Amino acid sequence: MQDRFAEKMSDPKARADTRLLGDFTGIYCRGKHRGAVRTPLASDGVVLGVYGRRVPVVCEECAELLVYAEQRRAFCPKDPKPFCSTCDTHCYKPAMREYMRDVMRYAGPRSMFHGYAVQGVRHLIESRNARKAAGAQSAAEHEG
Ligand SMILES: [Zn+2]
Repeated sequence: MQDRFAEKMSDPKARADTRLLGDFTGIYCRGKHRGAVRTPLASDGVVLGVYGRRVPVVCEECAELLVYAEQRRAFCPKDPKPFCSTCDTHCYKPAMREYMRDVMRYAGPRSMFHGYAVQGVRHLIESRNARKAAGAQSAAEHEG
């Protein structure tokens, strides 16, 4: 594991974001990849205890997504980090971006029924507000 990864992942915000992605991907995988062999994630993030006792149980494909997402999150160049959905730096490669968007769309609303109500709802509201703010801003730029 890179030292820089461990250092970046010591940030509580980075850990919380990554944990949310882990929860969401677990919900998505359980719903969408029912036939697949699913095992507890093995990743640098898991080694660092990012997911606490709730290590996501996922298939090979979803594990790949999470390993990728951990790296992207840890090395996000933006400070403060915006919501990925409103960010203008497309640091995800297109296929992964599409995959993650699917996960968010599927697991976001369902997270309420899986005991992740607080984080799930907070994420939905915050990202909706961020989108609204971004929209308002670009509208203002248009007019200005
Ligand atoms: Zn899966």
